[in-house]
Parts: sequence; structure tokens; C-alpha cells
Amino acid sequence: AQAGTQPSALREIVTQPSHKRWSDVGGLDAIKQLLVEAVQWPTRHGALYAAAGIQPPKGILFYGGPGTGKTLLAKALAGESGANFIAVKGPQLLSMWAGESERGVREVFRKARQTAPCIIFFDEIDTLTPNRGVTGGALTDRVVAQLLTEIDGVEDLRGVTVLAATNRLDQIDAALLRPGRFDFLVEFHAPDHAGRRAILDVHAGRMPLAPGVDLDALAAATEGMVGAEIEALCRQAGVAAIRERVMGHAPADAAALTVTSHHFDEALSAMKKERAA
Ligand code: ATP
Repeated sequence: AQAGTQPSALREIVTQPSHKRWSDVGGLDAIKQLLVEAVQWPTRHGALYAAAGIQPPKGILFYGGPGTGKTLLAKALAGESGANFIAVKGPQLLSMWAGESERGVREVFRKARQTAPCIIFFDEIDTLTPNRGVTGGALTDRVVAQLLTEIDGVEDLRGVTVLAATNRLDQIDAALLRPGRFDFLVEFHAPDHAGRRAILDVHAGRMPLAPGVDLDALAAATEGMVGAEIEALCRQAGVAAIRERVMGHAPADAAALTVTSHHFDEALSAMKKERAA
């Protein structure tokens, strides 16, 4: 029973291998390269870093709008590095250990050390560290202090990489951004045409597309959309194709299913209507 039961305090910290790969991430090539240099090289070529007399970054902060691929890229980095992955959302950490969230931070790092190589990903970190003394109370002060202590001791965290993400860089406690902490900032933008095309390749590439589907034209038609919206578009086009079969009483033969440009148009106009509303 002990083997099958986790202490309740740890139950919600889930560490698991990541199965995402760079190929699951459309575009963002410059960021992928940055991460390879900042995370993978120091592990694989530690001697070169020592010879050059430079320290790899301790913590990396992703910032940018929602749905731009921050979480996805963190998972892909874990997958590519063969590392375990722990994702913790700021609000979840605050509520899970109500009144003693700093213990939560300690537990996350402990679990990461146990399962190293491991990548810890603090999502919505702005909620964990509202600017100290301004909006945060004593609790968030203690959480930030604990986080800083853990990151400061990161040399002992062999094989543990600390990533965080936020939509609002201005909300981050300045103490977290000092050198030796989250001192490596990576900005995520909405994708350009080539980026949208690459994201379409990832998501639509898995679908049984009819010959008339023009992904270049779709990349142009999705201007202003981020990765999460492009994924939603592909899903909705897929559902439209399934709906047509099921409602039209066509044979539910999976092998015959195709997603046509008409399905994408339908999904696109539904999404545009939604956005306008
Ligand atoms: P938030 O700030 O809301 O947490 P985020 O930047 O972390 O957003 P993700 O959770 O990484 O965004 O993205 C949501 C989903 O959108 C992903 O699971 C993925 O399917 C899709 N997506 C986003 N960006 C890309 C991309 N560059 N390539 C492929 N899929 C993407």
C-alpha cells in the first residue's frame, strides 16, 4: 500500500517524462536554439563552459501573450533533454498549501532533485510573486523568499533546470530578475506568416487533408492568431469533418475521412465570429 500511495502533500506535484519534441513546436527556431545553448550545452559540454569561465543561466523566464507556446516549448525542452518535467501553476501552489505555500516551493524542488534530470516549470509565476510589499501579503513574501533561496542554491541542484512563464513581465518581483536568478529572459511573440505556416504543419499535418487544402493560404488567413488558436482552428475543422459524416449518415469509415478546405473555412469563420463577439 505504501508503494501505491503518495503522501497527500505531494500528490499534486506530478513529475513525469515529457514526450514532446522540437518537431511538435512550429517555428520559434531562434528560441529553440537559445534553449539548446542555455540548457543542453552546459549539461553536455560542462568542461567547455568551465574552460570558458562562464556560468550557464540559473533560471529562464519566458514571457509573452497567452497561447504563444511557452508551456509547449518547456515540455519540448524536457523531452529533447530526456528530463522529467514538473509543471506548477502559481495559483495552484498558493491554494494547495494554503498558508504554507513556501513549503510547497520546497517540496517542488525536493521532488525535482529526487527525479533529476528534471525541469521545473512555474507557470503564471506573476501570481506567485506579485511585486513584494505592493499587492502581495506576508504569504507571497515568504513564497518569493523561498523561491530565491532554492534558486540561489541551484548549484547543488545538479540536473535541475528552473523555467518560469508569465504573461505579465511587469508584475514580476524585481528580486526574481536579478543576476543569478531568472536572469535569462525569452520573449514569445505572436507568430509571423512563416511561424503560422509551421504551426499549421504541426497540427494540420496530422490530419487526413483533402488535396485542395492550401496551408499557405490558411497561414495568411490566420494573421493575428497565436499557436493555441491555430491548434483550435485545426481541431474545429476536424470536428466539422466528423460532424458531416455522423449527421449526414455517411459511413463512419475512419479511413475515408478527409478534412477539406471547406471545413477549414467553416472553422475559420466560426472563430472569427467568436473573436469579434
Ligand atoms: P499561457 O500563457 O496561456 O499558459 P502558453 O504560451 O503557455 O499560454 P501553450 O500552453 O504552450 O501556451 O500553448 C497552448 C497550445 O497551443 C499548445 O498545447 C499547442 O498545442 C498550441 N501551440 C502554441 N504554440 C505552438 C507552436 N509554436 N507550435 C505548435 N503548437 C503550438
